[in-house]
Amino acid sequence: MSPSVVIVGSGPGAFYAAEGLARAAPEWPVDMLDRLPTPFGLVRGGVAPDHQKTKGVTRIFDAIANRDKVRFVGNVELGRDVSYDQLKALYDVVILAFGAERSRTLGIPGEDAAGVFNADLVVGWFNGHPDYSKVRPDLTGSSLVVVGNGNVALDVVRMMGATAEELAATDVAPYARDAIVAANFTEIHLLGRRGPVQGAFAKAELAELGRMERCVPLVEADQLPETVQLDDDREQRVKAANLKVLRGYIGNDPASKPLPVHIKFLAAPREVITEDRDGTPHVVALRVEHTRLEQNRAVGTGEFFDLPADIVMPCIGYWSVLPEGVPRHAEYDAVRHQDGRVEAGVYVAGWAKRGPTGTIATNRADSHAVAGLIVEDLAAAGAGDKPGRAGLDKLLAGRGVRTVSFADWELLNRAEISRAKAPAPRAKFTSIEDMLAFLDR
Ligand code: NAP
Repeated sequence: MSPSVVIVGSGPGAFYAAEGLARAAPEWPVDMLDRLPTPFGLVRGGVAPDHQKTKGVTRIFDAIANRDKVRFVGNVELGRDVSYDQLKALYDVVILAFGAERSRTLGIPGEDAAGVFNADLVVGWFNGHPDYSKVRPDLTGSSLVVVGNGNVALDVVRMMGATAEELAATDVAPYARDAIVAANFTEIHLLGRRGPVQGAFAKAELAELGRMERCVPLVEADQLPETVQLDDDREQRVKAANLKVLRGYIGNDPASKPLPVHIKFLAAPREVITEDRDGTPHVVALRVEHTRLEQNRAVGTGEFFDLPADIVMPCIGYWSVLPEGVPRHAEYDAVRHQDGRVEAGVYVAGWAKRGPTGTIATNRADSHAVAGLIVEDLAAAGAGDKPGRAGLDKLLAGRGVRTVSFADWELLNRAEISRAKAPAPRAKFTSIEDMLAFLDR
C-alpha cells in the first residue's frame, strides 16, 4: 500500500511540498488540510491586495490541487477537529506547513493601547481574512506610524496611503477600502530600528512608494551612507539597489503630494504614550530612542524624541502558533526540526520550519527538499500501513465536521470573481459562516 500523507496548511510551503511529492511519488495519496474553507494561506490572507501579480501564483497551486492523488480538505483545524497525535496515528507521513500567523509585538509599555494595531490584524483586515473581518480598526487621526523595515511594513504603508483609484483593481475587503479612503492621515512615518543597509525590504517594494498617487516618500540625506561595502556579492547588489531608491527620495518636495511618508532609520520605539479617553488609554505619541549600530545591532544612544501618533502599526515579523504536542524550536518561534525532520513520520515545511522569512518562491526549493527527504526515509521504511484518508474521513464524520473540498472552493472562487465590480478581480467572502452558507444553499 502506498504511504499516506497529510499536509497541515495550504499555503506556499504546503503546496510546494505537495508538488514535490507528486513528482517524486505520484502514486502516494496526499491530503492537505486548512483550518479555513479556502486554500492558499498567506497568498490569500497575507500578500497585499494590490499585489495581484504575486497572488497569481495560485494558478500553479490549482494545478497541484487538481492532481489525481492530491485532495484539499478545508475547514479542518489541527488541535480543534483532529489532534496532532491522531494525525500521526492516521497517516504514515505528516507534514506541518501551517505557517506563522501571529505578529510579533513590540514588548514596550503602552502597546496594548487603543490605536495600536499589529500587522496580523491590519493585513488580515484589509485582506478580508475571516479572523479579522469583524474588527473595525479606528483609523481616525492624522499621524500614522508604521514600525519595521520589512516588506510587510511597506505593504501596510502603501495600503494605508492608497487612493480609491489605486484600490479599485485590488481585492481589498470593501469595508477596509471604505475605511482607508475615508481616513484623513496627513503624515505617515516609517521607522527602522537599524539603518537603511540593514532594512529587510526589497527594492521593488521601496520603489513602489515613489509611484503612489498621493504619497511622497521623504528621507533625510544624513540618514543614508555614501557607499555600502558588504562581503557577500548578492547582499551587496541588493543593498546598493535599495540605497539607490532611497537616495532618489532625498530631494522630494514634501508639499508635492498630500501625504508625506517620512522614512526614518536608527529609531527604536521605547514606549507608547497614551491619554485616557473614556476610561481607555489611547495612543497619542510614540517615544522613540535614537540608536547606533554596534556589531550590526541597534543600541540606544540615550537620546529620545516623542513622535505624535494617532495610530501605530508595528510590522515586525511573525511567529507560529503551535498546536498541542508539536515541539517548539529552541531558537525561534517555529517547529523544532533537524533539516526538516521533526520526529518519526513527521516533517515541517515553510515558515513553520524556517520562521517568517523569504519570498513565496523560497518555499519551492525548500519544500521540494523536504519532499525528497520523505521519499528517501520512506524508501528505507517500506510501504505504508496506516488508515490515511479513509481514517480521517471517519474521524471527521464522527465529529460532524463540515469539510470543504477543492471543488467547493472552486464554487466559492467563481462566486467571488463573478460578484466583483470591475476592475476588482474578486469580492471575497470574508466570514466562514458566509462561505459555508453559500456552499450549503
Ligand atoms: P521582516 O522582513 O523580518 O522584517 C521585520 C522588520 O521588523 C525588520 O526591519 C526588523 O528589524 C523589524 N523589527 C523586528 N523587531 C523589532 C522591534 N522590536 N522594534 C523595531 N523593529 C523591529 O518581516 P516582515 O516584513 O513581516 O516579512 C516577513 C517575510 O515576508 C519577509 O521575508 C518578507 O520579505 C516577506 N514578504 C515579502 C513581500 C514581497 O515580496 N512583496 C511582501 C511581504 C512580506 P531588524 O532587522 O533590526 O530585526
